[in-house]
Amino acid sequence: MKVYFFTLGCRVNQYETDAVREMFIEKGHEIAKSPEEADVCIVNTCTVTGEADRKSRQMLRKMARLNPDTVVCAMGCAAEMTGGMIDADIICGTRDKNILVEKVESFVAEKSLSALTHCSMHMRPEVSRSDVYHDFGSVLSPEGTRAFMKIEDGCNMFCTYCIIPFARGRVASREEESIIKEAVFLVEKGFKEIIISGIHLCSYGKDRGEDISAMLRVIKRIDSIPGIERIRLGSMEPMSMTKEFIEGLSDIEHLCPHFHLSLQSGCDSVLKRMGRHYNTEQYLERVKLLREHFESMSLTTDIICGFPGETDEEFNATKDFVARAGFNKIHVFPYSVREGTVAAKMEQLPAGLGKERAKELISWSDEAEKLFAQSFTGKKTKVLLETMKKDKDGRIYYTGYTPEYVKAEVLIDDAADPASFKGRIVEIEIKYCEGNMVIG
Ligand code: SF4
Repeated sequence: MKVYFFTLGCRVNQYETDAVREMFIEKGHEIAKSPEEADVCIVNTCTVTGEADRKSRQMLRKMARLNPDTVVCAMGCAAEMTGGMIDADIICGTRDKNILVEKVESFVAEKSLSALTHCSMHMRPEVSRSDVYHDFGSVLSPEGTRAFMKIEDGCNMFCTYCIIPFARGRVASREEESIIKEAVFLVEKGFKEIIISGIHLCSYGKDRGEDISAMLRVIKRIDSIPGIERIRLGSMEPMSMTKEFIEGLSDIEHLCPHFHLSLQSGCDSVLKRMGRHYNTEQYLERVKLLREHFESMSLTTDIICGFPGETDEEFNATKDFVARAGFNKIHVFPYSVREGTVAAKMEQLPAGLGKERAKELISWSDEAEKLFAQSFTGKKTKVLLETMKKDKDGRIYYTGYTPEYVKAEVLIDDAADPASFKGRIVEIEIKYCEGNMVIG
């Protein structure tokens, strides 16, 4: 069979698409470049917001329209939440992905609806509590330079705006030996950077009665793998950044000084309505502790604008807070109602206000990102070379990222074999900046 993949949503979804793609390849199937040439189109869906859900459904319909003969398969979060009410021939929930190949093969062979996989209803707590981590084994990312590695699934937090604990179930941690095996595999395949990911990453180990020290233990083991060059952490919760954890992190030789600490709002009353388990003072304490151990670190976050009931004063408090915390980049999202959540039942703001506020924060973030890049001018740094390009005069450049996750453009002097530079880490001197990108 020829199989086409389309992924919506987060990096964990991308990881799972890569894993399922590998499974199809292992079973002798081919990867299609377009839906038109595919026997099967698999859409890895997202349901984090109402908008993501809409896009997922739109994409499924598009596949069927572009190729009426193809078998359309909906997998992942939006598929999980529909209880079967989605336009697809095959519906695969969030924790059935590792049996998808067999399901698709039998569906195509029998051409019968009886082979439909059933959405596993993880929204029922008695089922979710018994969730186990479904291991995909070692997954090869097609990028070839940086690899996302999933170590945890699910979330127990139930923030009032978020549907993810219903879509993905409770926290389920991956076996430590499986993580290390994948990390060794990735390093042997030439990956220089591993990005440790999860749905609620800092809950790793919680389902086994462990605390954040479990994650530190895993990171230490990855750090000692011969050949590993960079370890980057995915999104973390502020309260998981304990003194002991931060001190432990500061001893990790290959850890990138880049921390993404989820914030969501810089106003305590909004945080309370969101069901977040910290206040802004506690958040700042953690940032201060981090800065004591990582001098030139990068600090990024997520913020939702226009949460139900957010007043002008509350939004102003968020604006003040982002300046105090000193973020160098913010992922800003206008609040969008997600049916099935507590916040969906709260009184909503007038349409458009969330987007307006988001615009304001985005322009603040763009400026902060540029200033952060400029602060590296004249300094030396290391860049992992990822994408090669040629300018109109034939000069070869690579783009890639610094340890702080600043985008960099690097001129390659030795043009004898420019392709061989892909995946190498080189030291550069930063000459100047173009927007948020450093040039060296
Ligand atoms: S921590 Fe909150 S926002 Fe994040 S996945 Fe869990 S419930 Fe959703």
